Amino acid sequence: MAVDFSNATTTDAGVQINGIIMSQIVEQCEGCGRIKEFEGGKYCGTYPQPASKWRLGVCNFSTHVKVAATNKGKVNPIKASKRASKGR
Ligand code: SF4
Repeated sequence: MAVDFSNATTTDAGVQINGIIMSQIVEQCEGCGRIKEFEGGKYCGTYPQPASKWRLGVCNFSTHVKVAATNKGKVNPIKASKRASKGR
């Protein structure tokens, strides 16, 4: 869900959209395609609290850093040998 900055207001607590306080992006966000600039600050266009998206690892919404590849594509040697023997 994209954040709509046309509803943004600046309050004493910071930039607020529909009652949600927007925190500025963190260092790891730099280069992400979802960054939106608003009144001189940089915010995430997808998530109001960017720091918490990085607390547990790579942000899953980021466009510039991909989550490390999983085991997908790795060949199981036992299955591969069975497959090879079938083709005799
Ligand atoms: S999507 Fe993730 S990496 Fe990109 S700006 Fe938002 S919080 Fe930062």
